[in-house]
Amino acid sequence: MKLNELPVLLSPFNQKRVRRLNAQSIRENGEYVLYWMQINRRFEYNFSLEYAVNLANYLQKPLLIYEGLSATYPWACDRFHLYVMQGMEENHQLAEKNGWNYFGYWEEAPKAGKGLIYELEKRACAIVSDDNPVFIMKKNNDSVSQKVSCSYIVIDSNGLIPFGLTDKAPYLAFLFRKTMQKYFVESMQNMPLKQPMDELINQKHIDLNFSKKPFWKLEISKQDFISQLPIDHTVKPIAEIGTRKEALKAYQVFLDSKLLHYGEDRNHPDKQAVSNMSGYLHFGKISEQEMVQSVLEKQPKSWDINQITYKNGQSGSFFGGYSFIESFLDELITWREVGHHFAHHEPNYDAFDSLPDWAKQTLSEHEKDERVYLYTLEQFEQAKTHDKIWNAAQRELVRDGRIHNYLRMLWGKKILEWTPNARVALEIMIELNNKYAIDGRDPNSYSGIFWILGRFDRAWFERPIFGKIRFMSSESTLKKVIMKQYLKDFASDLDTTKETKNETLDLFDS
Ligand SMILES: Cc1cc2nc3c(=O)[nH]c(=O)nc-3n(C[C@H](O)[C@H](O)[C@H](O)COP(=O)(O)OP(=O)(O)OC[C@H]3O[C@@H](n4cnc5c(N)ncnc54)[C@H](O)[C@@H]3O)c2cc1C
Repeated sequence: MKLNELPVLLSPFNQKRVRRLNAQSIRENGEYVLYWMQINRRFEYNFSLEYAVNLANYLQKPLLIYEGLSATYPWACDRFHLYVMQGMEENHQLAEKNGWNYFGYWEEAPKAGKGLIYELEKRACAIVSDDNPVFIMKKNNDSVSQKVSCSYIVIDSNGLIPFGLTDKAPYLAFLFRKTMQKYFVESMQNMPLKQPMDELINQKHIDLNFSKKPFWKLEISKQDFISQLPIDHTVKPIAEIGTRKEALKAYQVFLDSKLLHYGEDRNHPDKQAVSNMSGYLHFGKISEQEMVQSVLEKQPKSWDINQITYKNGQSGSFFGGYSFIESFLDELITWREVGHHFAHHEPNYDAFDSLPDWAKQTLSEHEKDERVYLYTLEQFEQAKTHDKIWNAAQRELVRDGRIHNYLRMLWGKKILEWTPNARVALEIMIELNNKYAIDGRDPNSYSGIFWILGRFDRAWFERPIFGKIRFMSSESTLKKVIMKQYLKDFASDLDTTKETKNETLDLFDS
């Protein structure tokens, strides 16, 4: 066995998901293969876990799955902590029921878990982890892989198109859609296994007696655990529960009652036609592949995946079948994955300078334009602008950890309009989105925020402040979008009872 060479453990198509991050060999006398579950926090339809199982089988070793929760990640707060803890409890229960080796750790104080990954590594043959191009996952992978003395391999389990199939950052969704169309059928023929743990051969129990306690031995409630941490307690938990069980339940509701209306109604908050899956996708509770597969089962009986042909990146008629499915899959695959591939190839994905040249130029040409309204971060955060729709969207973000997509675009565009320049707007969008949104800190966060400033978009007519960047207004939003109930829920200062039509509402404070 040549332990400095990695065996090929996935299909040729999925092998493009595999990246080796250091030059260390597999440790021959290691006790187990370690899977560090960082963001694909699930046991099903997970290529990283599947690869780890295959490696364990190849080496005839058992598998140890490690899932952690740090107390010091950026924007750590009650909201994200509780969500992750709920998911980890579910994972622990499943592991216990099935006799899997699972070590789950909640950091009791900042830096209390320092060194744990290296302690786990000492007994490991190799570490397999999740390839994710942003936030702490990227930092962990880049740094830990250089400090360990066994092989460190990351697997891209983010979406349908493996990172290895693009060679540079796509600067337009159209360009990524071309790649997606080329490989879509092959990707669906190379789905991840539903139950990779069923394939594990060596089921030997691993003694989990590490220097840190697994969370189930802490004898403290989740609420008490959270309240003693020095994290942001002002960002409160949301009603959504961070388990896979809840993710599957929510998705089933979408498939049964909302998908049919998605194409027509997705832009109207009152119609509630969207899936609300972005939090679950972000924390890896559900895989994009299984979502796509379930949607395709809703196509007409006469529909056949083998009839799909390349459409040169054009949207609207690629998948065939129902147009509402076409519309949903374009968001779920093209728009979701373009940001992942962009960040994978562009290390400065979160920096202003990563904007296209035309966008930087036009924004700089209009930097000195007069701004009628200017707000500070605090004023934005507290929803204290003159615009009641904007304030409503911000209240939704603070209360529920999300903003409906259409209003999220308006929310960002107005931040650009009401700040001294685009760099300040960028900082404010990143801060508010990542602080409050359950789906924040994701490649998609940077896609959405940078789209506001021109990424993945084209030049429009020139106008003040925005230059050639696409503009949006609250007035036209009110005309186009059905949101009476939304405004009742989030804009109590707006008297919606007297009016019969959105257009006549008094939208702005003088
Ligand atoms: C300023 C701004 C910030 C954003 N920040 C985030 C963020 O932090 N995290 C995040 O996941 N998305 C973000 N988006 C994209 C989009 O708003 C959300 O993905 C979508 O609203 C999530 O709701 P849903 O799950 O009900 O979407 P659905 O409409 O049901 O779509 C299903 C899935 O497709 C993907 N998707 C849908 N629309 C988009 C889109 N426009 N761009 C990229 N992917 C999309 C998401 O993964 C989503 O969960 C942002 C958009 C903007 C304009």
